[in-house]
Amino acid sequence: MSENLTRLKARLADVNALHAAVAIMDWDQQTFMPEGGAEARAQHVSQLSRLAHELLTADEVGTWLERSAGEVAPGSDDAALARVVKRDFDLATKIPSALVAKKSKLAAEGHEIWVRARANNDFVSFAPFLEQLLDIVREEANHLGYEHEPYDALLDQYEEGATADDCRRMFATLKENTVGLVRDITTHGVAVDDHLLCGEWDIARQKRLTEMMVKDIGFDFTRGRQDTAPHPFCTGWSIGDIRLTTRFQDHVCSSIFSSLHEAGHGMYEQGSPKAWDLTPLAGGVSLGIHESQSRLWENIVGRSKPFWKRYLHELHAEFPSLAAIYLDEFYRLVNKVQPSLIRVEADEVTYNLHVMVRFELECDMLNGTLAVKDLPAAWNAKYKEYLGVDVPSDSKGCLQDVHWSMGSIGYFPTYSMGNLLSYQIWNTLQQDIPNTDELIEKGEFGPILRWLQEHVYSQGRKYAPKELVMRVTGKPMQADDYVEALNKKYRDIYRI
Ligand code: ZN
Repeated sequence: MSENLTRLKARLADVNALHAAVAIMDWDQQTFMPEGGAEARAQHVSQLSRLAHELLTADEVGTWLERSAGEVAPGSDDAALARVVKRDFDLATKIPSALVAKKSKLAAEGHEIWVRARANNDFVSFAPFLEQLLDIVREEANHLGYEHEPYDALLDQYEEGATADDCRRMFATLKENTVGLVRDITTHGVAVDDHLLCGEWDIARQKRLTEMMVKDIGFDFTRGRQDTAPHPFCTGWSIGDIRLTTRFQDHVCSSIFSSLHEAGHGMYEQGSPKAWDLTPLAGGVSLGIHESQSRLWENIVGRSKPFWKRYLHELHAEFPSLAAIYLDEFYRLVNKVQPSLIRVEADEVTYNLHVMVRFELECDMLNGTLAVKDLPAAWNAKYKEYLGVDVPSDSKGCLQDVHWSMGSIGYFPTYSMGNLLSYQIWNTLQQDIPNTDELIEKGEFGPILRWLQEHVYSQGRKYAPKELVMRVTGKPMQADDYVEALNKKYRDIYRI
């Protein structure tokens, strides 16, 4: 191995150790840390993050990257490593540190302003701040560079190679096919009443159920664990130690679907090759692909009839008051579609419409065709048009998400990409494994997991997301599989 590559790898190992420390501290903060630890934790995390950033963006790293470029064999793991690190290096160095500091200061202040504005339903106090933040984000996009429009640069940070035009195409198909489906469900569908699933459910029993299911689908508890957190997430610092979190709420299935979702992320992380552990090649390649794996296990497997054919009696055993709900009815209950105001509580069908609203508004604000002062009216009009709901207040409308207050613009579409890709990848898997229903019904998830492991998880970050999608499914990301599956499933459930 060349000396440049050796040095580069040694530096990456240092950066990795610091990132691991930060990830453990962050996990601890969200699960077990006492309130009193917040101040010191913030300081430690910020210092370690700064050190990691300095080590990664130092001039010598650029030199090693440049010199080693000609020394790695095309197609080799080292070539993939060099490509991935070059991308991380560019993203970390293209934006001047003064702008980074300005943004994080503004975002910290803005967060406070947003919390108050949301509590008081006061968009006017938040607007000037959002305007300043948009200016900074536009500047960021200019530094990052783009071919067509600023949004491309912002989105690329989360989903390499994806563009605003990709999103427009995706949402055009979704709009054409799901707005009508939602309207049919709400106007002609046989209503689904799931109040029986809400109540105070014993937490130890819920915990037992979620752990059993997560273990059954293939999350390896010798290389991970599950704890509770107010907002469920998955994190990790090596393929030997991946942490899931879930939460227990008043809907009996809330923790189950949360756990299956995070386990999907977790199994993806556990599936990187051992040889890549602790290097930038390990882990998920993009937010969209990551989300495709969580959605696949949560929605396609977890909300399927065969899954509940296997597990409904386990649920009945833990919660006998539900014993009168038979399979067909239960399947309808866990697939209830309800257009609502709040994205994070949205079902599988309406979820993308929430994302589409945000994508369109982000583009319009960035391109200057929508003034910030007109955001609430534009938001409300889109909710009426796409979801058929009236927004009663800005708190429940354009002030609901934390993202814009942090200057995170450009990543909402990755949620929808995940939804689309989950079905696209699943349909490909079914060409090799046609009897998935039968396997799921028997609780035999091994063949499904092994297929995903071979085609997706074991690829880590080796191929850019668009290339990986081509390699796995033989075509670029498109909405057809998703739209077709959804129409079939929900027109059947709602008898329309
Ligand atoms: Zn997720």
